[in-house]
Amino acid sequence: MTDAPQIPVRVRPAIAALPPYRQGRQAGADAFKLSSNENPFDPLPGVIAAMQSATAVNRYPDAGAARLAQRLADRFGVEPDEVHIAAGSVSILSQLVLATSGPGDEVVYAWRSFEAYPGLAVVAGATSVAVPLTADFRHDLDAMVEAITDRTRVVIVCTPNNPTGPIITQAEFEQFIDRVPGDVLVILDEAYAEFVTDPDAVDGMRLLGGTRRDNLVVLRTFSKAYGLAGLRIGYAVGHARVLDAARTTGIPLSVTAPAEAAALASLDAEAELRERITVIAERRDRLAEGLRAAGWSVPEAQGNFVWLPAGEHAVDVAAAFDAGGLVVRPFAGDGVRITVGEEESVEKVLRIAASVVKDLPEGHPGRGLA
Ligand SMILES: *Cc1c(COP(=O)(O)O)cnc(C)c1O
Repeated sequence: MTDAPQIPVRVRPAIAALPPYRQGRQAGADAFKLSSNENPFDPLPGVIAAMQSATAVNRYPDAGAARLAQRLADRFGVEPDEVHIAAGSVSILSQLVLATSGPGDEVVYAWRSFEAYPGLAVVAGATSVAVPLTADFRHDLDAMVEAITDRTRVVIVCTPNNPTGPIITQAEFEQFIDRVPGDVLVILDEAYAEFVTDPDAVDGMRLLGGTRRDNLVVLRTFSKAYGLAGLRIGYAVGHARVLDAARTTGIPLSVTAPAEAAALASLDAEAELRERITVIAERRDRLAEGLRAAGWSVPEAQGNFVWLPAGEHAVDVAAAFDAGGLVVRPFAGDGVRITVGEEESVEKVLRIAASVVKDLPEGHPGRGLA
């Protein structure tokens, strides 16, 4: 028996069994919030100005966010109806899973990966097929292909993988998608694409346009590199009819005019944003190197975060960071993800990490070979 209060109305049992979304704790005034992969830089002045000029909020917004769709279509060499804008790319994930998968259907994804994936399958009434990562925290693409059955409707691939960090290469991804049946949707979740510095990393946009794979949808977001997490805006690029299915399951008019204006202004300010991204990527490399030097076995880090494979010590390790004024994200039994935040946080992260690694038992996989 549980002592959870009864739900007063009849809720689908699968939904009642799911924990409701709970946001990571907000950081106190003197703490660094390194738990949500947010961008530590304040919004650019031009972005604020653009939002402030989108004042006709007594009117519903443009349902298709057509100006932004056109702008992104030009950028990626596709047609505007091959771009779909939504209130965050998580919305698009949800729309695509609902559009493709229902009871009896299977949703394949790597695990551990983005926390949202398992819940999306449950909400659709579909079956999750979670394929374990390799020992070095990468997608096991061969095992993912083998996990595909007649019931599989969608395969979700995340690169760089949140929360562990490694990328999938272009060659690996092309070999993979060639082995996926053409009527199975492949979602390539590239939420952190802009931070990638490995030249071999997959760029899903190269497989659209000319050399297109019609069953591929690439997801990007303005939340991370562009620093617009609070405005909720992301996009998909793919086959127009596939995106129509997402447009059908999505709630219309969810993208607000200030969000669209801010996204357009961000694209105008690309050069400045690029500089910031370079700073974050450089900071990430320094952080990962420092953690390895301190004795942690940190996997390849290509997003704006690093992964400590703390295993069963994850919650304790996160508590030690917390006590030192750093809010990080533990995944119980697995590890701790630390976002690359303000410059002043780096030295604090390294100091605490060097101290807690000593509490891991000899031979623990979180310890590097150094
Ligand atoms: C943050 C994130 C997203 C996007 O989030 P939105 O804010 O909804 O655009 C999508 N996928 C992954 C893996 C993420 O980490």
